[in-house]
Amino acid sequence: MADITQICKKCGKKFLVIEIEQEFLKKKSLPLPTMCPSDRQLRRLVNRGERFLYRTKCQQCGAKMITSYDPAKVTSQILCKKCYREYYETHELVQPA
Ligand SMILES: [Zn+2]
Ligand SMILES: [Zn+2]
Repeated sequence: MADITQICKKCGKKFLVIEIEQEFLKKKSLPLPTMCPSDRQLRRLVNRGERFLYRTKCQQCGAKMITSYDPAKVTSQILCKKCYREYYETHELVQPA
């Protein structure tokens, strides 16, 4: 078995699928990767929801914070940890049984 050169379907760059990786994929009966390692890593991060982080401000106290929600799309309040806790301490929550 030799190294295989694949062309990334995302960025068009060539990348190598080395023997060890081929054997691993074969064992798991997985297809050869169609994206280069860096695009695959990027996709993993996107899947974990860690790709896009937004700088925003707490709507309660104005403290700067980082959120994974897009402030332009979020309709509910964006609160910092402190205000979030205060919110739940001052609002009685009815937990489903
Ligand atoms: Zn790529
Ligand atoms: Zn706050």
